[in-house]
Amino acid sequence: MQYSLDHYGFDHDDILVLIDSDCFLVRPLSIRKYMEGWDIVSSRRTIRGTDMHYFWIGLVFLDIRTMPNKRTINFNSGRVLGLPADSAGQTHLYMIENPDAKIKLVDRLRVNYDASSSLACNSCKQRHRFDCAHNEQLLREAGFVGQEIPFLQMGPPIIEWHLDKQFFHYSRACSWDGQSEQFHTRKIAMVKRFIESVLGITN
Ligand SMILES: [Zn+2]
Repeated sequence: MQYSLDHYGFDHDDILVLIDSDCFLVRPLSIRKYMEGWDIVSSRRTIRGTDMHYFWIGLVFLDIRTMPNKRTINFNSGRVLGLPADSAGQTHLYMIENPDAKIKLVDRLRVNYDASSSLACNSCKQRHRFDCAHNEQLLREAGFVGQEIPFLQMGPPIIEWHLDKQFFHYSRACSWDGQSEQFHTRKIAMVKRFIESVLGITN
């Protein structure tokens, strides 16, 4: 990532988008409009046990024209002020060193990691199920719309929504958490249906 920025990205003359390969835009969005007034917009990550924030490398918008000291931003992992951090952890230092940079960090929404992040109704939760046919109102109140409702009612496990639900993240696609092939086959089928419905593809 850092190499591509050093050799190509920082020479760009407009907005640059970094996006993870299992992260998908699922709502109509003008990134230019969304970035109005900001140099950088990203989903927020936090160093465990602290209030030290950094950019989620999976989704960052950089306005290369306006961000100060652009060549000093570092997307590498490694220790930050002595604490271990994941990819882009070093962007925390950019925020400290550039207090005038206009940076917007948006919290992600994790869904179906466990009972507390489940959006199923209480009865389905008690039966340890993420799929639920009784939660349409609940989902609408949580801000979900359109094809997102039937998708979430299928109960896709371990997913995320980013930047005000405009991006869907499959999450852990490389299976570093050791999920089975069967787990992914089932999850991919649900996600494929959802993405196709967003794109207006019907089979
Ligand atoms: Zn239910």
